[in-house]
Amino acid sequence: MKLNNECCCGCNTQMSDQTKENNCPVCNNEGILVSKVTVEHLVVDDYRKAVEGDQYKICMNEDCNVVYFNHYNRTTFLKDQVSVPIWFKRDANPKHACYCNKVTEEQVIEAVVKQGAKTIKEVNAITGSMKNSNCKEKNPLGVCCHKIIQEAIDKGLAIK
Ligand SMILES: [Zn+2]
Repeated sequence: MKLNNECCCGCNTQMSDQTKENNCPVCNNEGILVSKVTVEHLVVDDYRKAVEGDQYKICMNEDCNVVYFNHYNRTTFLKDQVSVPIWFKRDANPKHACYCNKVTEEQVIEAVVKQGAKTIKEVNAITGSMKNSNCKEKNPLGVCCHKIIQEAIDKGLAIK
């Protein structure tokens, strides 16, 4: 459900106080819960100490500058305060498919298009993705990257 934040008198900022705790304080899109461990590892060094509490969410809106937010202590971490590009944000460069081994979406697509890989296993063998995985600390969502790799494979298969 999306809250209606449109207003004729410019009082949007006051309304953001009532935003649901799940929603990004900037764009009001719903966020996904991310573990504190993940946030601590991915913010740049200067902000590591500012990571407190365990109620962090990640904003999934590709156009929003906010990466992590926490309504309880009112912290937000923007794209430039996080040490890796967030693959689903519009201008992410490079777009990583596997963060643990720094394999990009492009490399996965290339493995599919040029080398005929069709499965995650084949892509892993060609690109070295998903080796020594430590997704809890390296992936911005703190979850295994196989889903992103599968999406990249699907993109590659669609181009082919
Ligand atoms: Zn947002």
